[in-house]
Amino acid sequence: MNSIVLVTRSLGKFTEIRKLLPDSFILKSMDDIGCFDKIEETGSNFRENALIKAQFINDKYQLNSLADDSGLEVAVLGGAPGVFSARYSKEGSDTENVKKLLKEMENSTNRKARFKSVLALILDGKKYFFEGEVSGKIALKSSGSEGFGYDPVFIPDGFNHTFAELSPDLKNKISHRGAAMKQLVNFLNTL
Ligand code: IMP
Repeated sequence: MNSIVLVTRSLGKFTEIRKLLPDSFILKSMDDIGCFDKIEETGSNFRENALIKAQFINDKYQLNSLADDSGLEVAVLGGAPGVFSARYSKEGSDTENVKKLLKEMENSTNRKARFKSVLALILDGKKYFFEGEVSGKIALKSSGSEGFGYDPVFIPDGFNHTFAELSPDLKNKISHRGAAMKQLVNFLNTL
């Protein structure tokens, strides 16, 4: 097995995961296999949504599949936006999502937050899960132009800069997705 379909429409996620996977693995996009379906993410947590996405591709194409479901959980917002991170604002764009978050937190001194990532892998019909998280805080304003999503407002613990101000390599080393991917790669190396 060295070919996996990554079930995402996010170029940011595809780029990060491609970088974290050994070169010997062929990572195919949904476009590569001619899949243009919109997969409804109806789960109530990251794990359920990751599995829904991976299962959809495995069921329809009988191909090995990998899906990441991830998001931002903000303490003072009771864990929101959580599974709704990608569709937090009406528009659903990164810029509008960040704008809404900063507005919601305008008067909050508690800025604690964390990113979580759950990877679901379906390999030869078997399901595997890998999880990672990174704690930090929400900045008062956007800074930086790397990455995607909430990167411009997320300052990981131990740093004074947002994810969007760090190099992609450094972000990958400390991020929720990096942590989940490390476990996935360890697992793939045992096959
Ligand atoms: P998903 O594609 O349904 O898993 O949605 C994930 C959403 O969570 C993204 O669209 C981003 O808004 C947010 N998110 C997840 N991981 C990251 C990250 O590494 N940086 C910034 N935002 C992220």
